[in-house]
Amino acid sequence: MGYIDEKVPPKRDERLRVCHAYGGTVCGLVNDSRQGCLVNRDRSFSQTSNCQMGLALAMILTVPNTVTIMHAPVGCGGSSHGMDGHFRNGVSIRGEKPKSLIWFSTNLDENDVINGGEQKLEEAILLADRRHRPKAIFVVSCCAPGIIGDDIDSVAKRLQNQVMAAIIPLHCEGFKTKISATAYDVVYHGIARNLLGKAGQGFTASAAGALREETQRKQRQERTVNLFNVYSIGYPDEVELTRLLRALGLEVRYYPNFADPERYGVLTEAALNVSICATHDDYFLKHLEERYGMPYMINTMPIGIRNTNEWLLDIAKPLQREAEVQRLIEAETRELDEALAPLRQTLRGKRVYLSGGEMRVAATAMLLQELGCEIIGFRAHHYDEFGDNLYLKATEGQPQMEVNVATTQPFELVNLLRRAQPDLYLGHSGSNLWAAKLGIPTLPIFSAPQSYLGYRGVFEVAQRAARLMENPAFQRRLKENTRQPYREAWYDTDPYRYITG
Ligand code: SF4
Repeated sequence: MGYIDEKVPPKRDERLRVCHAYGGTVCGLVNDSRQGCLVNRDRSFSQTSNCQMGLALAMILTVPNTVTIMHAPVGCGGSSHGMDGHFRNGVSIRGEKPKSLIWFSTNLDENDVINGGEQKLEEAILLADRRHRPKAIFVVSCCAPGIIGDDIDSVAKRLQNQVMAAIIPLHCEGFKTKISATAYDVVYHGIARNLLGKAGQGFTASAAGALREETQRKQRQERTVNLFNVYSIGYPDEVELTRLLRALGLEVRYYPNFADPERYGVLTEAALNVSICATHDDYFLKHLEERYGMPYMINTMPIGIRNTNEWLLDIAKPLQREAEVQRLIEAETRELDEALAPLRQTLRGKRVYLSGGEMRVAATAMLLQELGCEIIGFRAHHYDEFGDNLYLKATEGQPQMEVNVATTQPFELVNLLRRAQPDLYLGHSGSNLWAAKLGIPTLPIFSAPQSYLGYRGVFEVAQRAARLMENPAFQRRLKENTRQPYREAWYDTDPYRYITG
């Protein structure tokens, strides 16, 4: 690949066969994807969408003992105040003393846009280092410095010898991509270039040295796996996946969310890198394989019984734990089946619509089918080649199932939902609001404090869905007392009217 040698990572729009606008059937989507016909799809009208910087911040603002500098006008990243609680809770639940989130803005103004903002960035880096003594400083470049040509890499290089922290430039200019998941590559790119090979060499503390020494022992390395937990995997899910992997005699380390920078000193001392979601990790895992010879597993997301079984089997096979994994799967699925019996009665035949990340919606569709629900459609934030096999697997026997690819775009969502009239809708909090106002019972497709992955996740999702089916009064009342902003004529219009290409 060799991307890591470049200062700026490639856009997903160019690196993968990726699409952000589609309306049709799963069969048509996969066929078009395989023939490379999706890449030019677009919209002639669209509502506000995600900026990649937001997803990048969702990763880096969880990393303890670091400071983030937004090199931007003050509005960019202003929503980071809302991450403080998430950071404090995440640190505290993992056994560390809760701390406040620390971030700076260089507050670029009209003058800086004309004369350049590098001086302000230099001052911010030196101030952040001296005032807070972080182990790493993330420098997030937003649209304005990207347009005027501020060279954040040169600033970082110039200052690296003057500060204690590792400086990690991240190129997050929102205007550069329509695929906000590019942010994951941006953050991993910065980590790979500025942290990975350097942790343990100079800026790391003695504790990291001790850990490094210990993990260098071959025996430990052979039973250690790295799991990659980007924003949409909460602590209860880490606990569940750790429980399952420990039952196979494995030790687990998590990266990058809530991973101290020093932990990168031992990242390469593991037997296997395991993805939880291909949308998040493929860029970094391929780099680790190419540069360090580390094997990786990226096929399956452990959501639902079948997918969790396959995820465990895929890990166990290269680590020679096949007998143990068979016993584990048998015991776990037997117990789970008994626990699910009463919930399946409530959920059988319920018609469900899903919306969320590309991989998560399809894996969740399989989970709900295992509970007896009927999936009537789903929509993904974006779509790329990683979805092809999973989407076919999730719609076996239903190749004509409706699929919409849309990053947000609530106008398409409300039109689709009013036609489909599902009994239940699972989506992220932003889209759940729109479904709820239509009177449709909604559940979060991700919520950090709740279980979602592994066998425990199956039970808890089933339990939450069954409870909701028994009492959907909240959404019914919401519909009675609110109104949507769209004209009635829109609901009689083709929901995909504005999709082009
Ligand atoms: S799109 Fe650009 S200006 Fe807007 S928030 Fe993102 S980085 Fe800032």
